[in-house]
Amino acid sequence: MAMKIDADLCVSCGACEEACDINHAISQSDTAYAIDAAKCDECASAGGDQKCVPTCGVDAIVKG
Ligand code: SF4
Ligand code: SF4
Repeated sequence: MAMKIDADLCVSCGACEEACDINHAISQSDTAYAIDAAKCDECASAGGDQKCVPTCGVDAIVKG
C-alpha cells in the first residue's frame, strides 16, 4: 500500500518531499505534489510511522 496526496488540498509547500528522504517517493507534479505508489511503502522500512503525514499542514496526505 502507498499513501497519496489529495491534489485539491495540496498547496505545494514541498515539506513532504523533504520528509520522504529514504524512499524518495514524493515529487512535484503539474499542480500539486504527488507520491509514486511504486516507491512508497508507507514507511514500513523506516519504522512504520509515515514521515510525510505530520509535515503537511493541510492534511493532504491520505491512505491510498
Ligand atoms: S509514507 Fe513514507 S515512503 Fe510513503 S511518501 Fe510518505 S514518507 Fe515517503
Ligand atoms: S506537505 Fe502537504 S501541502 Fe505541502 S507539498 Fe506535501 S502534500 Fe502538498
